[in-house]
Amino acid sequence: MRKQIAAANWKMNLNFSQAQAFITELKSEQFDITDHRSVVLAVPAPYLQFTTEAFKEVAGFSIAAQNCYAQKSGAFTGEISVEMLTSIGVHHVIIGHSERREIFGEDNALLAKKVDLALEFGMTPIFCCGEPLPVREAGTQNDFVAEQLKASLYQLTAEQMSKVVIAYEPIWAIGTGKTATSEQAQEMHAYIRSQLATQYGQALADGVSILYGGSVKASNAVEIFQQPDVDGGLVGGASLIAKEFAAIIRALK
Ligand code: PEP
Repeated sequence: MRKQIAAANWKMNLNFSQAQAFITELKSEQFDITDHRSVVLAVPAPYLQFTTEAFKEVAGFSIAAQNCYAQKSGAFTGEISVEMLTSIGVHHVIIGHSERREIFGEDNALLAKKVDLALEFGMTPIFCCGEPLPVREAGTQNDFVAEQLKASLYQLTAEQMSKVVIAYEPIWAIGTGKTATSEQAQEMHAYIRSQLATQYGQALADGVSILYGGSVKASNAVEIFQQPDVDGGLVGGASLIAKEFAAIIRALK
C-alpha cells in the first residue's frame, strides 16, 4: 500500500511555549503507526531542531521545513538552505505552498529548482499544487494542475519522482473552511495520478502519495481520506490543536 501521510503545516503560528505544549500533548496520544502510515510536522524554522529532537525516538514521525531556498548557499539573507536542514536531521520540506506562490511570488520554474535541490540532498519534497477559485469556476482546473506538475516536476528522473510526495490543495479551500467534496478531491487525485502514469508509467504513479489539503479537520478527514486516490492530508488550521490533529492522524487509511 502507498504511504498514507498526515502532515501538519503550522505556518507562522504558535510561540515556542505553545509549540512545546502541543508536542507534549501529541506525544501522549495513541496512534497505530504502521509501515504504511506516517506523520509529518512542518513547524516554523526556529523550532525545527527542537521538534526533531523531541520526535527522534518516535517511529513514523518526521519533521519538515515549510520552505527552503533554491541555491545551495551564499549571500541570501533570511533564507534557509537544504544542507542546513539535512544537517539538523530535517529530511522533508514543503515546496510550492500556495502562500509561497501567491504572497512571495514563487513561480513554477523556481519551484523546479527547489525540488531538484531538495532531492539532490536526499530530502523528500512535499510538492503543493492546486487551482485558484476562478480556474475552478471556469472548469479548467485539470489543465492548470497539469501545467504545475509539468513545469516543476517533469524534469525529474523516474527514480527522483518516486521520492516526491504531492499535495493537492485547491486554493479556494485553504483556510476558508470550504472543503472540496470528497468527490472533487478524488477526481483531481485520480487525474494527477493519471498524469504521472502517462509521464512515468503506472507502477510509479501507483506508488506516489497524493495528499489532499484544504480545510481538513477531524470531522471530515475520514470521508476524504477514504477516497481511493487520497493518501492522507496536508493540514493547516486543524493541525494547531493537538487533539484535533491526533484525530486526523487516526483517520488515515
Ligand atoms: C494548508 O495550509 O496547507 C492548508 C491546507 O490549510 P487549512 O487546512 O487551514 O485549509
